Amino acid sequence: MLRRNGATGGATVRGAFGSLLKGLLKCGPCGCAMSPTHTTKGARRYRYYACVAAQNKGRATCPTKAVPAEPVEQFVVDQVRAVGRDPAVLRGVLDQARAVHAERTAELETEESGLTKDLTAWHREATRLSVQLRPGGDNGDVVGRLAELHERIGTVEGRVTRVRDQIKSVAAQLIDEGAAASALAAFDPVWGTLTPREQARVVGLLVETVGFDGRTGTVAVTFRPAGITTLAKELTQHALEEDVA
Ligand SMILES: [Zn+2]
Repeated sequence: MLRRNGATGGATVRGAFGSLLKGLLKCGPCGCAMSPTHTTKGARRYRYYACVAAQNKGRATCPTKAVPAEPVEQFVVDQVRAVGRDPAVLRGVLDQARAVHAERTAELETEESGLTKDLTAWHREATRLSVQLRPGGDNGDVVGRLAELHERIGTVEGRVTRVRDQIKSVAAQLIDEGAAASALAAFDPVWGTLTPREQARVVGLLVETVGFDGRTGTVAVTFRPAGITTLAKELTQHALEEDVA
C-alpha cells in the first residue's frame, strides 16, 4: 500500500503536512524514533523521516534507515480517515479501546477490594481496642494503636474515594459504537476543510504510534483508544453548536 501511495496519493499531499508524524513515527526494528529531516536537490526539497539509531550509531545498524515523508504520511491519514468511513476499522479501534478500559477497570477494582478489606480489618480492630480502654487507667499502648489505626483508615478511605472516581471516569470514556459511528461519519467529509495544524491535532488525538519496518515496507498504525471518544465527543458538540447556530 505504501508503494502504491508513493506512486499516486503522495503527490496530492506534497508539502501539506509539515512533519505530521513527528513524535509518532518509530523504526520497527530499532524501536526508536524516526525524526523528520530533509535534503535538497536543486530547487526541490525532499522530506523524509530518519531512524535516530541509524543517525547516531551508523546506517549499517538499522535495516530501515529512512522513509520518504509524503507516502507514509498519506498512508496514516488514509487510515485515520478510514476510522470514520469503514465500520470494520471503527469496530477494531473500539474493541481495542474496550480491552484497554476493561483491563484498567479490573486493576482499579482489585485495588478497591484490597483497600476495602484492609479498612474492614482496621475498623474491627479499632472497635475491639475501644472497649479495652479503662477510665483512669494507663491506656498508652491502646491509645497509640488507635491513633495509628485512625490515621491509616483516613488515608485509605481517601484513596478508596479516588479509586472509585477513577473507575467512574474510565466508564465515562467508553463510547457506544453507534454514537461513535454517527459522530465519525461527519468527520471524513470535514477532513479536507481542516488546516494542516488541525489535521495534525486530529492525527495526534487518534494515533498512538506509527511503526515503520524498512525490511518489509510495512506501516503499522496503533490507535489511541481514548482519542476516538474525545474526537467523537468534539464532533457531536460541534454538530450541536451548528444546529443551535
Ligand atoms: Zn532503525
